[in-house]
Amino acid sequence: MRVQLLPSTFDAQGVATLEQRLTCFVIDDCVAVDAGSIAIATNSQQRSNIRDIIVTHPHMDHVASLPIYIDDLYPSLKEPVRIYATEEVIGLLERDVFNWNVYPRFSDLKNDYGPVMEYIPIPIGEPFRVAHLNVIAVPVNHIVPTVGLVVSDGQKSVAFSSDTAETEEFWKMINEMEGLDALLIEASFPDRLAKLAHVSRHFTPASLGQELKKLTHNGMDIMAVHLKPSYRDEIIQQLNALNIPDLKVMEPGKIYEW
Ligand SMILES: [Zn+2]
Ligand SMILES: [Zn+2]
Repeated sequence: MRVQLLPSTFDAQGVATLEQRLTCFVIDDCVAVDAGSIAIATNSQQRSNIRDIIVTHPHMDHVASLPIYIDDLYPSLKEPVRIYATEEVIGLLERDVFNWNVYPRFSDLKNDYGPVMEYIPIPIGEPFRVAHLNVIAVPVNHIVPTVGLVVSDGQKSVAFSSDTAETEEFWKMINEMEGLDALLIEASFPDRLAKLAHVSRHFTPASLGQELKKLTHNGMDIMAVHLKPSYRDEIIQQLNALNIPDLKVMEPGKIYEW
């Protein structure tokens, strides 16, 4: 399975920067997990392939350019862009984003070929199919309804924590699985901002270090993501100081193969 965390910003020469402002993971060039930077950083092949997008929660950094992505593709879509999310998240996207005020309600619109956007409600704790992938979603602990995911292609499995603080069901799901190749987990704030992390339901390196003790598997790659750009260097230093051998920081733009 190929997983790329899309970059969010580019320097004056067009080279992707390492700061991660928006969240969008592209799997095998055809499925997206979240859509923060989807209209900004996908290449032309990804734009022509990605029609399946899992939205873990409706925060702006995870959906910022989703409306623009559908808008850009509008005349050429021969099948709808399918948005996989829980019923609650679909309700929030319809109420707060695709509401005719912020952006058109694409789920009501058709181009010459048919509907341009379709919602696919996802179950909790039950496997569902997204393109060639099997996915399981469970709730995590964030300030809006949010799911963490395990995505499998039949050979390899990768877990995505999405945005979360201390949580239980996500670890239960992972610990019950036979094998996991990678865990992509958030580390948003440095330790000195533990209070802010607590009220906004995110991890710091210290709380992540505690949380990883719930993991009963070992040997998988653990990739820290969602580092707030203003504190990136500080968070990386504190993550390194945890001395967890398989823990690395995921690099935007780079393609990881599991
Ligand atoms: Zn969030
Ligand atoms: Zn976020």
